[in-house]
Amino acid sequence: MRRLAPYQSGLWLAEYGDIRCQLCRIYRSTLQSQLPQNHSSAIPPNNHSFFTNLRQHINNRFDSGLLCSHCHHSIIWLPKTFEVDIAAGTVLSIQAATYYDYPIRQAIRAFKHHEDMTKLPLLLHVLRQLPRPHGCHQDNSVIVAMPTTNQRLVKRGFDPVSILAAQLSKHWQIPLWYGVERIDNTVSQQGLTRAERLSNLNNAFVLTETPPVKRLLLFDDVATTGASLQALGRALYQPATNTASASSLPTNRYHLSAYALAHGSQYR
Ligand SMILES: [Zn+2]
Repeated sequence: MRRLAPYQSGLWLAEYGDIRCQLCRIYRSTLQSQLPQNHSSAIPPNNHSFFTNLRQHINNRFDSGLLCSHCHHSIIWLPKTFEVDIAAGTVLSIQAATYYDYPIRQAIRAFKHHEDMTKLPLLLHVLRQLPRPHGCHQDNSVIVAMPTTNQRLVKRGFDPVSILAAQLSKHWQIPLWYGVERIDNTVSQQGLTRAERLSNLNNAFVLTETPPVKRLLLFDDVATTGASLQALGRALYQPATNTASASSLPTNRYHLSAYALAHGSQYR
């Protein structure tokens, strides 16, 4: 059973109860201020109950931003992906929504390390800037959240990446899949060089079941060198099986792409 319920209520309030920008807290969030004009022309008089209006309001809020337009445009949104190798001649493209800089960096840290749920609406806004993968839907794709280890889960008491991934799943209407486990005896990636990260991550992921579809959308909160997503991608791209012969390998291969809230460049 995943712990999601306590966060849902906070998000519900941010979505529908609080119309201020989730960053500056001064201005109204992006499309909210446009709602009266849009709605007064779209809704004929005497033909709509309170609930119809509410439903339209909610639908609009789902599509709208949670930031005011000033704050939205003050953040650098990343149009480009970066790539890491997952097999000979095969790369994994990683799409991050923005850089791991102010104000996203502070929000992610507060959420991850201090379980600060007030930052979740801002992070949700960032998630929604990720382009929905072309051609992916609930029947041909799953989202694979970067698994945490039991040790980290016990230490933190919650799994921030799975909470964010659940929001992405809801936004894209693509189910989550939990068929990968992360082995406990790897040390934290923080402060390691790229080479150290990669060797630390080798064999860190184990498939506990076969993916139900061919398109796997990997998700992590922050991708710096991309080493964690690369290791997860390698584990999924060519899953170790006892019986696989060279000729049967291609049928085990999946179409992978990766997504992150933020790209933490080492050089910034
Ligand atoms: Zn603002």
